[in-house]
Amino acid sequence: MSKQKKSLVDFRKVKDSVSITQVLEHYGVMGEFSKRGNRLEGPCPIHNGDSSSFSVTPAKNTWYCFGECKQGGNILDLVAVMEKCGVRDAAIMISDWFDLDGVEHRPEKQTKPKRPTPPKKSGKSERKRRKSGKDELCVEDEANPPRPDANQPLTFELKSLEPDHETLLARNLMSDTATHFGAGYCKRGLLKGRIAVPVHSRDGELLAYAGATTKDIKQPAYLWPRNFNPALELYNLNRVIGLEKAKPPLVVVCDIFDIFELFEVGREHAVALMGNTISKAQLALLSDYLSASDVAAVHFMARPGTPKLRKTVCVLAQIAFVRLTLSASLGTMSETQQHNLEVA
Ligand SMILES: [Zn+2]
Repeated sequence: MSKQKKSLVDFRKVKDSVSITQVLEHYGVMGEFSKRGNRLEGPCPIHNGDSSSFSVTPAKNTWYCFGECKQGGNILDLVAVMEKCGVRDAAIMISDWFDLDGVEHRPEKQTKPKRPTPPKKSGKSERKRRKSGKDELCVEDEANPPRPDANQPLTFELKSLEPDHETLLARNLMSDTATHFGAGYCKRGLLKGRIAVPVHSRDGELLAYAGATTKDIKQPAYLWPRNFNPALELYNLNRVIGLEKAKPPLVVVCDIFDIFELFEVGREHAVALMGNTISKAQLALLSDYLSASDVAAVHFMARPGTPKLRKTVCVLAQIAFVRLTLSASLGTMSETQQHNLEVA
């Protein structure tokens, strides 16, 4: 989204789209809050007060500081105080942080569809536009809303993930492997009941946690924070860059768990697309890695029936020699089981 200021700001849409807990998460204090009845209590982010002065009512999306501040309000008021700005600028900031499409110039579009004109830029028409335009490499994910153009570092860490929880075995994830990747079963919060997997930028900054299902068969395979765009990153690239061994062809896979499977058979030079297609941003990351490390080939390993396989191979072939291997089980595959397709 553009950061230009427009004349109208849809305050209601901002307030309705973002929760007070998301705002507190943005400020990195959410981990210190605890539940008291239907409220949450924690340290005041405004005056950095003690652990219970700041009270939040999630159902109403409001807050109040009983400590020094003696004030409260909605999310706009909170951000306005935190950022020392007016509520209008606060609304624009929030819409930037949480990628609220069109907040600045389409007031009440969702609540009062009076005018019969088609929406200019809903997620769907955006995707159609991308399909026809040169942005067509972008990941298309019908189930998810549009994602931001850049990922921000996460301001908190999940502390009590369990790498040896029994549910990890249902996904064939060994606890040593989970520990190596910082993953584990999550007992509380948004990812409760899922396997949380930290995702880092190329430079190793923690960006998000993927919430993987504990079922061995997907749907929905992952929960992602709505302000995180997996299509902008390559899972495991930060570790691959850190490896000092001689560099074999880089393995590219679709799923994060394929990385785990490969790790267990000793193939560490592998990155995951976190989806079934490759985006322009991912292609650029790959291209940078290949040229910096003198690797000329990628080995794309995918499950039979992966959507858009041929297209992904063709895109990869723009930057490297591509070898495609289809297998239902990447880790156990032997050389003789591979049926290859060389694309020059
Ligand atoms: Zn306060």
